[in-house]
Amino acid sequence: LQDKLNGAFRTLKGKDRITDINVAATTKEVRRALVDADVNFKIAKDITDRIRETAMDRKILISVEPGQMFVKIVQEELTRLMGSNSESISIKGDPAVILIAGLQGSGKTTFSGKLAAMLKKQGKQVMLAACDIYRPAAIDQLKVLGEQIGVEVYAEPENKNAVAIAQQAIAYARQNGKKIVIVDTAGRLAVDEAMMQEVEDIKKALNPSEILFVVDSMTGQDAVNTAKTFNERLNFDGVVLTKLDGDSRGGAALSIRQVVEKPIKFISTGEKMEALDLFHPDRMASRILGMGDVISLVERAQQAFDEEEARRLNAKMRQNKFDFDDFLGQLQQIKKMGNVKDLIGMIPGMGAAIKNLDIDNSSFVPIEAMIQSMTKKERANPELIDSSRKKRIAQGSGKSITEVNNLLKQFDEMRKMMRKMNTMQAAGKLGKALK
Ligand code: GDP
Ligand code: MG
Repeated sequence: LQDKLNGAFRTLKGKDRITDINVAATTKEVRRALVDADVNFKIAKDITDRIRETAMDRKILISVEPGQMFVKIVQEELTRLMGSNSESISIKGDPAVILIAGLQGSGKTTFSGKLAAMLKKQGKQVMLAACDIYRPAAIDQLKVLGEQIGVEVYAEPENKNAVAIAQQAIAYARQNGKKIVIVDTAGRLAVDEAMMQEVEDIKKALNPSEILFVVDSMTGQDAVNTAKTFNERLNFDGVVLTKLDGDSRGGAALSIRQVVEKPIKFISTGEKMEALDLFHPDRMASRILGMGDVISLVERAQQAFDEEEARRLNAKMRQNKFDFDDFLGQLQQIKKMGNVKDLIGMIPGMGAAIKNLDIDNSSFVPIEAMIQSMTKKERANPELIDSSRKKRIAQGSGKSITEVNNLLKQFDEMRKMMRKMNTMQAAGKLGKALK
């Protein structure tokens, strides 16, 4: 999806103004990308129709880069469609019951542990109930997690009646001052009647205040169908999207939200007990758009970058005086920040471009060599570098003239991009000042 959308936005790149033609072409590409990401065709069409209208409406207001503007409109629309706020869960009753349902392997047991850990951290008296009676290791798995997070697990290894176990668990919780019981249930590899009946029976017997449906984000269109079936039987309250630490771009979030009209409440991003996040529609929209997790990039960059240096660079970028010495300094900073490929991948639009490249910190060596072969004057004024200087730099660094040319070209593009960003920032400030 990321590649597709990047392609769609490329259509707009370099155009000065949003026109009917390139909006139409771009929305069509966006639609195709959404469909490829398992979004139902009609939903994708509705989304892109609205996006096109918004883009056309704002046409007159646009003075900055239309591609950026378009991305923003798409991002806003996707955010709106996935629900604009993180939703909380309902904790009511004595004890309050949270029922966890979903297919086998979707991540129910792992999520149950994570949710218990999260509630415990909030000071709640929480307990886990092991109601997966089919997989031999299921009870042990939950017990191990419970021990790890310091939460009691109610289980009856001999009992083969999930509803009875669940009821006993509630009684036990009441007697022992537990205020919340998280009920982990059994799942099958595919939807089947016996499983549906059992979880429906548990629901009837316990009257949970919150039913969460857990689904593996990697399962694509299947995720949507499963969500639909579970919702018809259980009328669940919210969705937990798991395994978002993998390759999945999260397209399932959009389709599920649209098809079952229930909020996504949590996302699970790993096997560790801490890897649980509230769902943020705006961040998921960015992810679906392949814009990378810009927020994490900024957060990580802030930790590693010297603030003074950042301010100095920012001033230079504003005055359009960013030069090769600054570039060299930045490369060194980036190296300090850790895995270069990860970091570059988080830059909007870059993920797809570098996916198949073999980048590590040593990839900077030739660039550094070429910059170091420039004189101080050349570094500060790259426009000075004519063909005889290029030859000298190539010889000094042991690189070809083509490589020197490429570096100069890329540097020039980088400067242009900075200039554009400055214009956008300035426009933004002006906009605020006028409000
Ligand atoms: P259940 O059958 O629905 O109870 O699923 P489990 O909780 O047992 O999870 C199935 C497998 O997926 C286990 O190996 C988990 O460690 C793994 N898993 C669960 N959630 C995540 C996640 O968010 N990310 C990753 N990478 N693995 C997960
Ligand atoms: Mg399980």
